[in-house]
Amino acid sequence: MSANGLDNQKYGLLINYDFCTGCHSCEMACKKEFGLAQDQFGIKVAQYGPVQNSGKKWEFFYMPMLTDLCTLCAPRVAEGKLPTCVHHCQAKVMQYGTIDDLAEQLKVTPKSVLFAPKCC
Ligand code: SF4
Ligand code: SF4
Repeated sequence: MSANGLDNQKYGLLINYDFCTGCHSCEMACKKEFGLAQDQFGIKVAQYGPVQNSGKKWEFFYMPMLTDLCTLCAPRVAEGKLPTCVHHCQAKVMQYGTIDDLAEQLKVTPKSVLFAPKCC
């Protein structure tokens, strides 16, 4: 059974981190939804840079990372809602869907990562 309890497909999140603003709304939404403690995160936003890399080009980006506490919002998804981190991301950098569909999307979306949860 899948994370959303609806079928036998595997689901995940595709994150186009090229457009992540580092606003942390996804972190806060997840914490509120699941009542997580201050040091617990289902999703945590990391920062790289600003650094001057090869060719003296500057690199600076944020990377939302999913942890083992992520359940892909199974209770919300079972009610037909999006995962709350996806819902609250104003920059719309996260997509929820089947791993197969997201992998297809990944092929044409640079600077993206595909997250498949361990939990379910
Ligand atoms: S999908 Fe749900 S459980 Fe997973 S990180 Fe996002 S808000 Fe948290
Ligand atoms: S809510 Fe969206 S833009 Fe904000 S930190 Fe999370 S992924 Fe990045």
